[in-house]
Order: sequence, then C-alpha cells, then structure tokens
Amino acid sequence: MNLLTRKLSLASLALAWVFSYAALAQSAPVQEPQPASTHKWALVLHGGAGVIARSSMSLEAEANYRAGLKEALTAAADVLDKGGSSLDAVESAIKLLEDNPLFNAGRGAVFAADGTNQLDAAIMDGETMRAGAVADVQRTRHPISLARAVMEQSPHVMLIGSGADDFAAHVHLEQVLPAFFFTERRWQELVRQLEKDGSPIPPRPTGAPAPPPKPIAALERPDTHKYGTVGVVALDRHGNIAAGTSTGGTTAKRWNRVGDSPIIGAGTYASNQSCAVSATGTGEYFIRLTVARTICALVQYKGMSLQDAVDEVVQKDLSAIHGDGGVVALTPDGQLAWSFNTPGMFRAKLKEGGTPQISLYREEP
Ligand code: ASP
Repeated sequence: MNLLTRKLSLASLALAWVFSYAALAQSAPVQEPQPASTHKWALVLHGGAGVIARSSMSLEAEANYRAGLKEALTAAADVLDKGGSSLDAVESAIKLLEDNPLFNAGRGAVFAADGTNQLDAAIMDGETMRAGAVADVQRTRHPISLARAVMEQSPHVMLIGSGADDFAAHVHLEQVLPAFFFTERRWQELVRQLEKDGSPIPPRPTGAPAPPPKPIAALERPDTHKYGTVGVVALDRHGNIAAGTSTGGTTAKRWNRVGDSPIIGAGTYASNQSCAVSATGTGEYFIRLTVARTICALVQYKGMSLQDAVDEVVQKDLSAIHGDGGVVALTPDGQLAWSFNTPGMFRAKLKEGGTPQISLYREEP
C-alpha cells in the first residue's frame, strides 16, 4: 500500500466512525426527566414497651406521652415530606425524644446503680448498610447524633465509654455536664430499686437540683413504665429505609452493662434488601435472639410479610424464652408493622397522605 492509499483508507475509516456515531446518537432514546421519586414516605416509632395500662396512667400522663410521640412523628414527617432522607428523619425524631424527659433516652434516662446515666444508641442506613453505635456515653447531649457521626465520620461501627464522648467532642457535637440528664423521677426510681435490692444509694449527682421537700407526684405507678427506650424506622421518597434507637438502658444496671439497643442486628437494623427494625424491652433476650436481623432475614429469605415476621419473632421466639418487649418495623415497599408482648408499648405511625396513629395500650389498634 503506498502512502496515498494508506491516507485515503484512514480518512474513510474516520468518516465511517463519525457517521455511525452520529446515527447512533440520533437513534438513542431521548432521556425524559425522571420524577424525583416513586415512593411514598412512611415512618413508625416507639417510646418503649412495658407495663403500660390505662388503669394506672393518669389522664395528664397519657396526654403528655401522646404529645411527645406526636411531636417526634411530626418532626420526622416534615423531613420526609420535604424529600429529606430516612436517616435525617430518624435522627431528628430521636433527638426530640432524647430531649423529652418522659422517655428513657438522653435527658430523662434511667440511672445506673452508681448514680450515673449511661447512654446507648445506634443508627443504620438501609441503602448502604453502614451503621454507627455508641454505648455508655455520659457527656454527649444527643447519643443518636454521635452514633451517626461514628457511622459517617469514623472508620468504625461502635465506640464506647469516655472514648465515645471524646470522639463526640472531636466532631463538635454538643457536650453537657452529666447532671443535664438528671430527672427527679428517674432518680427516685433508682433509689426505690436499690432499696428493694438492699444496695447502697449513691450520692445525688453533682449539679443535680436539690431534692424536693416532698416526693414528686408520680406521673404513673412506679412499675407502669419500666422501660422507655425510643426508636424510629423510616422510608423516604427515594425508597431508602433507616433505623435508629436510643436508650438509658435499664434502671440500676451495673458493671457497664450494655443492652440490645446499640447492638446492630439485635435492637437496631436496616437494609434495603429486607427491612428496618428498632426494638425495646429487656435487651439480654433481644441480643440472644438477634431480634432485628432475624425479623429482616425472615422477610428476605422466607418471603414473609413484615407483620408475620415481627409476630413470629416477638410473639413466638421472644415469648418462648420469657423475653419482654416489642419492635417497630418497615420495609422499602411500604409495609409498616409493630408487635409487642407487654401490656403496652408507646408507638406511632404515619404514611404519606395518611393520618397519624398514636397508641399506648394493648387494646388500641
Ligand atoms: N432495650 C433496652 C435495653 O435493654 C431497654 C429498653 O428498651 O427499655 O437496654
């Protein structure tokens, strides 16, 4: 091939490429702008399970609990309605519940036997299956935000104790004095429990308000609300689900006991492949049964409906080992469920376009 023929054939190749590319570009389907989402948002939350009975709850206490649940539900709904993520919805609702002294999370958390508040929390993102958890936090105002920071700003899943608080300060999360979490009601619960056990009563925490001259009027009977952990599961318009849980654990706990709430797969779990779950109850049983992950495995591998899966694990498996408590759950296709084997569970749910449902007692829907 002489030089001229070679140049000609190269030129014709280049021309052919240009024409075929142009033809391809013309025949390519025009991209229609996609709607922002095809999913309707949804959310379910709990504020603890236990001996919650109409007969032992004053009308005022009942109204306060319903208002607290509604406030959290509304906050999460606002986030989702604006197209926000399920993670943001979970965190915003839990922050409110952590600040609400009625619930056993953040301010209002139960006391450990040594007179400290030891806070646990976890959050999980169903889209990426990233998770963050903290245990025995004592200085960070919002443990749920710290769990999220562990997930998003550290290479780890779980931090505990003073290291977790140090990390919180490092990522500029609000730090408070331990007395910030103090409530008289929880303190008196601790004192009663320790007296019952014949255990020494620790000194009131530094910075706690002076004891009232008379015991405070109980909101409800002492054992009415044994727990009070908070948890939220949410589905956003992008089809992503998330779960979060926050708690002070159990009254008079010792030896840095940690329950199920910050254990991924036990008290908290989320995966877009199956479901999102937040649990409440005596954590030891939930850890042994890996309650949250088991529920999602039933949905994922057995093709169970969400309601069947939560009932299977809570009503059958948990009850069989004498565990007590309940769960809230949802799936990416918008199934919502709860199940509990205690006389009551503070709970609420809402779907986009629907009306909020807030329930306390077993006999409520
Ligand atoms: N599950 C929590 C724990 O065992 C307590 C609760 O849910 O009330 O720490």
